[in-house]
Amino acid sequence: MESLDIFVGGEWRRGGGNLMHSRFPADGSVNAELYAADLADLETAVERGEAAWRDPAWRNSLPHQRARILSRVAEIIESRVDTLAELQTRDNGKPLAETRGLVMSAAGTARYFAAACELLEGELPTPRIPEVMTLSHYEPLGVVAAITPWNSPIASEMQKVAPAIAAGNAVVLKPAEATPLMALELARIFEQAGLPAGLLSVLPGKGSIIGDALARHPKVRKISFTGGTSTGRHLAHVAAEKLISTSLELGGKSPTIVLEDADIEQAARGICYGIFSSGGQACIAGARLFVHSSVYQPLMTRLLELTRGLRIGHPLTPGTHIGPLISPQHRDKVMSYVQMARDEGGEVLCGGEIPADPQLAAGNWFQPTIIEGLENTAQVCQEEIFGPVLVAMAFDDEQQLIAEANDSVYGLAAGIWSRDTGRALRLAQALEAGTIWINTYKVFSISTPFGGFKESGLGREKGIQGLKAWMQQKSIYLATGNGVNHWCD
Ligand code: ADP
Repeated sequence: MESLDIFVGGEWRRGGGNLMHSRFPADGSVNAELYAADLADLETAVERGEAAWRDPAWRNSLPHQRARILSRVAEIIESRVDTLAELQTRDNGKPLAETRGLVMSAAGTARYFAAACELLEGELPTPRIPEVMTLSHYEPLGVVAAITPWNSPIASEMQKVAPAIAAGNAVVLKPAEATPLMALELARIFEQAGLPAGLLSVLPGKGSIIGDALARHPKVRKISFTGGTSTGRHLAHVAAEKLISTSLELGGKSPTIVLEDADIEQAARGICYGIFSSGGQACIAGARLFVHSSVYQPLMTRLLELTRGLRIGHPLTPGTHIGPLISPQHRDKVMSYVQMARDEGGEVLCGGEIPADPQLAAGNWFQPTIIEGLENTAQVCQEEIFGPVLVAMAFDDEQQLIAEANDSVYGLAAGIWSRDTGRALRLAQALEAGTIWINTYKVFSISTPFGGFKESGLGREKGIQGLKAWMQQKSIYLATGNGVNHWCD
């Protein structure tokens, strides 16, 4: 079995912590073993990161020099799409078609931040004081932390590392316990692309140990986190103590809304993709469905047909829609939510069970599940399940709909299906969510900011804003004449 080293301040070495494993969720087999980072590894990573970002060769590097590294990263990723997609599938069980898309999106992210870094401009604000010019420009923060979850490692890791490097920082990346493989592979790719040693470290290990110590480290100047809301809240406290900035991409319980004039086929397909792709293991999964009662039956009939037609299978088999969930424990949690829905009076219209296929018995599969007969106040409508479970509800009144769609502690995303664009836009303005999709769902553009309202997060990633979030702004006042400070006269 492969035994992996971790990447500490430019050095590949055995981690000082406990033995850990990456397992293939399709059959529980071990992909690789490795030793977690310990606190000594963390110290080395931060110290070397600090030295590397202060090194004048990096500190004074020009944007196009940093951009060149990111462009090479993109080229390497594009030349290895199939192997990287398979690696990602082995680590977290997502079907190949999805992980291929994630790999391509990671290459696009590296290219975008290469370009954004080249084009980032400081400002020369119009003077407000005679004979004084002011300059506003952007500098890196220093050593920064990226803490990522298991559901889309390559995408979420690149979304943090690429802008952080473009901005001139040194990054310490802590991947999720379950999925260390892609982060380590990304470290190899950045190394191969010519990133100077020390600017990227990858420290696998337990969140409560190595993640927590990383966030608390006095030299770490930003925490960028994607994961659960309770961990995010904890990290916000840590950041508040240190007075450093955070970017928190947290949970969701996103509503999708079908108005009476929607294209039913388009809506049913988008809803099916929005909740069941990745087995629902997505913070943006469209988990609450609100359908106008006049189109409830036709929409549900088509949605059930599409859902029953999804191919549940091995994630490495082309054409599979539904792969296994990340772990047996997570599947148990999803199942307990379905039981809770039954107890709350919900009716399971499809799914709700572990698939009977003996070929899937060794993995963590769960059938795509649609439930009706519940109110939005039900616990399964209020809590994030992070699995293939959709609750459908009918509505009549638009104001009531808006109130219910917004009746959630979360505010990450929402979907609207309607042929009336003006009405859909008005509804989009009334919904409390950071991303709204109209007549589509779960599509992403790296140039468009992403982040949550309410308990779904703080700060934005992606876009030019997402680059500046890894920098600190500095103002410089420059006297162009003599004698502006007359106070001592
Ligand atoms: P999920 O529910 O998606 O697993 P978590 O919030 O538990 O979300 O984990 C997301 C990431 O945060 C993982 O890399 C995990 O190891 C890390 N993590 C968990 N607890 C902490 C903590 N107390 N401090 C820092 N990082 C943590």
